[in-house]
Amino acid sequence: MSNMGKWLPTLILVCVAVLFFALIGTQYPTVEAPTALSYSRAKVLIGEGAVTSLTMRGNRLSGRLRVARPLTEGGPPVNSFRTEVPAIGDPTLLPAIEQANVQLTVVSAEESGGWRLLMSILPWLLFLGVYFWLWRRMYSNMAGGMGGGLQGRNDLSGFLRGPRDDKTIEVPKVTFKDVAGQDNAKREVSELVDFLRKPEKYTRLGAEVPRGILLMGPPGTGKTLLARALAGEAKVPFYSISASEFIEVFVGVGASRVRRMFDEAKARQPSIIFIDELDAIGRVRGTGFGGGHDEREQTLNQILAELDGFEGHEAVVVLAATNRPDVLDPALLRPGRFDRHVTLDLPDKAARLAILRVHTRKIPLADDVFLEVIAAGTPGFSGADLKNLANEAAMAAARDGANDVAMRHFDDMRDRIMLGTVRTLAIQPDERHRLAVHESGHVAAAYYLPDADPLYKVTIIPRGRALGATYQLPEEERHTLPEAYLRARLAVMLAGRAAEKEILGEISSGADDDIRGATQLARAMVARWGMSEELGPVDLRESDEHPFLGREIALPRRFSEESASAVDKAVRALLIVEEARALEIIRAHRARIEALVKALEADESLDRAAIEAELKPALSAAAGA
Ligand code: ADP
Ligand code: MG
Ligand code: ZN
Repeated sequence: MSNMGKWLPTLILVCVAVLFFALIGTQYPTVEAPTALSYSRAKVLIGEGAVTSLTMRGNRLSGRLRVARPLTEGGPPVNSFRTEVPAIGDPTLLPAIEQANVQLTVVSAEESGGWRLLMSILPWLLFLGVYFWLWRRMYSNMAGGMGGGLQGRNDLSGFLRGPRDDKTIEVPKVTFKDVAGQDNAKREVSELVDFLRKPEKYTRLGAEVPRGILLMGPPGTGKTLLARALAGEAKVPFYSISASEFIEVFVGVGASRVRRMFDEAKARQPSIIFIDELDAIGRVRGTGFGGGHDEREQTLNQILAELDGFEGHEAVVVLAATNRPDVLDPALLRPGRFDRHVTLDLPDKAARLAILRVHTRKIPLADDVFLEVIAAGTPGFSGADLKNLANEAAMAAARDGANDVAMRHFDDMRDRIMLGTVRTLAIQPDERHRLAVHESGHVAAAYYLPDADPLYKVTIIPRGRALGATYQLPEEERHTLPEAYLRARLAVMLAGRAAEKEILGEISSGADDDIRGATQLARAMVARWGMSEELGPVDLRESDEHPFLGREIALPRRFSEESASAVDKAVRALLIVEEARALEIIRAHRARIEALVKALEADESLDRAAIEAELKPALSAAAGA
């Protein structure tokens, strides 16, 4: 049976080929292709008696010569030709043929030609081909073409043969070297390397090795990468499956794939199983999420059964990844299942630098590229974003025809990744002026407030949703935020609006995001961090920030209406105080700021040095005043 399955597609191919050549062969016994001639030339040849036989198919005529001779200028001697009889017919042709004593064969046009036949069966062949292809794919999915982990063998045989025993299952080439940063996660996972290399050492002593490890973290932080690196480091086969794939296939298939994958991994132990996007099937049951999907539940149950089915001595480690640990079914997290949790965070500055180093290894960098600066300017970027940035910068340099990748390529691509793509939207001059004033306000506040993060760049080139942007670079990663720093941040956020008020005499809708961000921050300061005199250190939050989604989740309110309105009052007071501070700065340095506005309108974006050139003298002037 198994051999049959393996050879079936080949057999079909051979049959088709034989059929094809048989058809061609009967119609074209001669090897050489007949030379095309004009009708009159062919008729002269017939008249001369140079032709022995003629075959007529419809209005096509092919003939053989008695003696080979060149029929084209300077061509080699040939012994056959073809031509076409004029559509209006030639009543003198038949008599001429008869007179020259040529043997004439007439083949009806319809049934002539293997080609014609082939053309008629070609659609069927194609149809069959597609059919087989689909069939193969379907069953190879069922039989466990497990995600990207297993390679090859996605043919009929997999389905017909049962568990595979081939030796070609992938051992990943990546190692911990390729995972930059994530030191905690790496340390936790690397404990397993020795176990996977020499499982006997542990099982002999009856040691219980952690079976299920859940990797948690936002997308692109390297969860998949880390799992693969563990396999690569331990040099064991890596079986991977993505839970989201199950949603598309037929009921029962997911469960059977899971069973098969676990069977294979056990057969090839030591090995690693990786279940990506676990939340796609591992959501809390009965929530109606995914429509009470039968398939999902069956697959989930199968995974639970497999995890429970280990007898304790198998050297199989099961890793799973999710960016939604909050929605996972608690059954998955019970002891003996995914009871070890490893968190991967968005990289900090040092980790971003390390990741950039990994992904620029093969990229020639210009002398002006400082990866430290890029790392500092990309807070919030994930490992995947940074990899994307390095790649996009290299692409941009290639488009420029440059020999190496320069800082401007990185800068452009970073802005693009951060804010979407460059808009071709035309901005009216007065709107541009307003933008320049608004951004200059942010810049001035950031520049003159000693507690604010240092400036990096300001631009009024519209990108994505933002019409302009002021970038600040935190000097170092901060983990706790001092009150003075937070207040400065509020003032900087509100300074765009303050500048519009002071310099243009009217405000616009351009401060939408600023006001939202400032209000959110002020609310956190008051309700979470006790930074308001009146309210004191009381937890008055109404929502909780979700650790991975970056969005707020409403909490049931556990305080009085009175406290709630006190919070609102304190938030408003804080915002008003900080806007007043921003206004004050703008009034004090108005002349300098107007110069900055002009420079910004002229150049569209200014870096730190250019900003300083406009604003610096004011500092001494202010000090003198
Ligand atoms: P996740 O599975 O967490 O969504 P991936 O592992 O798929 O993230 O990461 C996508 C890509 O981003 C990786 O293949 C790798 O090239 C890059 N990457 C992510 N994190 C890191 C890291 N810490 N070090 C190096 N490269 C990383
Ligand atoms: Mg992944
Ligand atoms: Zn703004």
